[in-house]
Amino acid sequence: MEKRKLNKRQLIAIKKQQAEKRQRAEQHEDATPGKHDNEQTGLLVSHYGQQIEIEDANEKVRRCVARSNLGSIAVGDNVIWCPEQNGPDVIVAVEPRRSELFRYHKFDGNKLVAANIDQLYIVVAAEPARAMNVIDRYLMLAEIQNIQPVLVFNKTDLLDTDDLTDIKEFLAYYSDTLGYRVFYTSSKTATGIAQLTSSLTDKTSIFVGLSGVGKSSLIQSLLPNESLAIGELSERSREGNHTTTTAKLFHLPEGGNLIDCPGIRELAVGKLSFNEVLQGFPDFANLANECQFRDCSHSHEPGCAIQVALNNQSCNPDRWASLQNILAEVDTFSGMK
Ligand code: GDP
Ligand code: ZN
Repeated sequence: MEKRKLNKRQLIAIKKQQAEKRQRAEQHEDATPGKHDNEQTGLLVSHYGQQIEIEDANEKVRRCVARSNLGSIAVGDNVIWCPEQNGPDVIVAVEPRRSELFRYHKFDGNKLVAANIDQLYIVVAAEPARAMNVIDRYLMLAEIQNIQPVLVFNKTDLLDTDDLTDIKEFLAYYSDTLGYRVFYTSSKTATGIAQLTSSLTDKTSIFVGLSGVGKSSLIQSLLPNESLAIGELSERSREGNHTTTTAKLFHLPEGGNLIDCPGIRELAVGKLSFNEVLQGFPDFANLANECQFRDCSHSHEPGCAIQVALNNQSCNPDRWASLQNILAEVDTFSGMK
């Protein structure tokens, strides 16, 4: 089906209508029946392909459809909706978001995965071995979306004391130099689960990381009363076809929300500018501010603070290598539509 293309004027008109609807819903928060189409506010709590569920002001879950001109909507969105007598309720507007998490897909481009997330939990583990490689790219994606990243090293029960000490030394750069929070957990022995739980309170969070690192097991121990539908969701119907993203928002017993999105196995980088990638690495973004030339490419220019730091080993060369890898990946996307 061909996507409807809207011109700039139509987009502005729609934005204006949506803002008016938001304003009306706020004014009539008590939801006096019959007033202004009875617009009400709600929270989008689940999105399975075409199926959308919202929670109304009384925390009642309602099946909804979205008006076709809404654009992307995702779990975590605050929405304005109207009840319908015959059929599902209708979402008519989306509140402005404080953050957006996208997943890049080769054929569909950027797809909104979740909205209004405060914390991105990057779960890694000693196995699978590749799991640690995602740290820098996920940190970058969180930084450029203005989402607070948190590192979780899971399956500590599989390591002896020496191995765990090595891991802690490696991650000390992230906690001590970059200031990110790092948790060490095991869902097998419940190590670190209490600390993890309190870090989630009153925030909206999402867990990402490679398949097999233990995200579902962690989420299950954080939400003991939910039976999570795990593992059976096939994300890709056919290669090259439209992909659906399945996601569900749960309220945590201690307050706050957790979004379970089994579809996020890997967050690809997608199309980013050099500067966006750099902003995702605060250690190098800070150095770049000290370069002699504002348009420094950090490769050969005199007075390049990054090259100086690399030469005198006062910065982390592994992080610089990660940044270069990401830039190489971005380049391969740049020829794509
Ligand atoms: P996901 O793909 O990231 O959701 O990972 P799962 O939660 O499905 O876990 C993958 C495998 O790792 C399963 O066999 C789990 O039993 C196992 N696992 C998860 N957490 C731990 C842990 O803390 N310690 C150990 N030893 N195994 C774990
Ligand atoms: Zn430079």
